[in-house]
Amino acid sequence: MRSLVLFATLFLYTACHESQKQEAPTQAKTSNVILMIGDGMGLAQVHAAYTANHGTLNMERAMFVGLSKTQSQNKYETDSGAGGTALSTGKKTMNNFIGIDASGQATPTILELAEKQGLSTGLVVTSEMIHATPAAFIAHVPDRYMYNEIAEHFTNSGIDIFIGGGRAYFEDSAAYNISDSLRSKSYDIVYSLDDIEPTSPNNIGCLVSDFYLPRFSEGRGDYLPLASGLAMKKLAQNKKGFFLMIEGSQIDWGGHSNDIDFVLEETLDFDKAVGAAFDFADTHPGTLVVVTADHETGGLSITDGDIESGALEVKFNDTGHTGIMVPVFAYGTGAEKFAGIYHNTEIFQKIVDLLKIND
Ligand code: MG
Ligand code: ZN
Repeated sequence: MRSLVLFATLFLYTACHESQKQEAPTQAKTSNVILMIGDGMGLAQVHAAYTANHGTLNMERAMFVGLSKTQSQNKYETDSGAGGTALSTGKKTMNNFIGIDASGQATPTILELAEKQGLSTGLVVTSEMIHATPAAFIAHVPDRYMYNEIAEHFTNSGIDIFIGGGRAYFEDSAAYNISDSLRSKSYDIVYSLDDIEPTSPNNIGCLVSDFYLPRFSEGRGDYLPLASGLAMKKLAQNKKGFFLMIEGSQIDWGGHSNDIDFVLEETLDFDKAVGAAFDFADTHPGTLVVVTADHETGGLSITDGDIESGALEVKFNDTGHTGIMVPVFAYGTGAEKFAGIYHNTEIFQKIVDLLKIND
């Protein structure tokens, strides 16, 4: 018994000592925020990826950890419209709403507040650019499926760089060619990561596919970490700072199809982008990275596993979203503000307070 107590004391000492070493300077100003959303990524998805990856994840480098309550204004189980809107505007709203509050009023997003204060802004996703999560940062519509209207909102957003799928909604099915309209506003509109010039003085839109991107194992490769790196390089040129949202859009889709391999490959791919963002924060003082989810998908539970072999036994209990709290992993300048348990809307509030971009 005594040796157990001694062991526990030693362990606690080591744990505290470790966290002190990593603590962020509290006086420094946060000038860059990278918000990373793993759509549908609950703690079980994170732990399953950790197990499959033989006991290591970039997310583990987080300095401070919190839990976010995801309920929407009208549902215990939020959708990505209301979940994204809570994160982007700080308002709980109705499922399917994008960038509008529960009464239907358009409400400013972090991206818009940042633009107004002269910061640079960006969105990087593995879905279509007009899908619910990125849409919540740039559009104000009462229905997440109003894809053409959502695409039109890019025109006057001032966004400095966006990279994702969904070219069809900007060109083929749009009322007018939105890509051409963006070009007339000095955007470089390109269709491949290779054609992005992050040091170009122009704003950049990169639409890599007609609709959503292929899943990781079906040919997308390292698109997400690469696109994230290009966006960080582009946005870092603004000395005033930037706001960038990066989404691992398809973790959710693996959950909906109760396909653990799909969930694992998407979560590990997202984790690679997390590593790139944490590395950027290491070399760019004043950068905060917040990694979270809009909700959990699939009611995933892990019934057995083996770290050494990476084997997993799992059960999905649902084909939709669940209402369980989701993790928040914070790294860099201001990360300490994200310890605790709070509503998803608080994530918006903490970010705008740190960036000082409130009206
Ligand atoms: Mg999404
Ligand atoms: Zn979903």
